[in-house]
Amino acid sequence: MDDCIFCKIIKGEIPSKRFYEDELMIVIADIAPKANKHYLAIPKKHYKLFSEMSEGDAIDLAKCIRKIGEIAPSLGLENGFRLVVNQGDDAQQTVFHLHMHLLGGQVLPEQNFKDR
Ligand code: 5GP
Ligand code: ZN
Repeated sequence: MDDCIFCKIIKGEIPSKRFYEDELMIVIADIAPKANKHYLAIPKKHYKLFSEMSEGDAIDLAKCIRKIGEIAPSLGLENGFRLVVNQGDDAQQTVFHLHMHLLGGQVLPEQNFKDR
């Protein structure tokens, strides 16, 4: 997508430090970290929502998740991490190219968003 910031990063039109890259995804640091370690694992294929995924996209995303588990120690996430995917308005998704947040490098607060 021409106006997608993550597509531009993937194409190299916007420079970024890639902590990992293969044929399916890149891993970069989030520009505005919300934890001591905050990475974005971005599949190279552009789509916004799980509901838009093809069977092949699902297989590729599963491969990405498996790879994240493998490379986590090299990212300083050897003690664990939280994987977050924001989807749509209620989750306040801001970049409409599906991506996974990897949060860690500390003990993360318990998740309880109810009635906030
Ligand atoms: P979302 O809210 O869509 O789940 O997450 C988008 C994330 O992308 C945010 O955490 C935001 O800080 C990050 N982000 C937005 N623009 C850029 C950018 O140009 N470079 C990097 N590295 N991260 C970005
Ligand atoms: Zn995109």
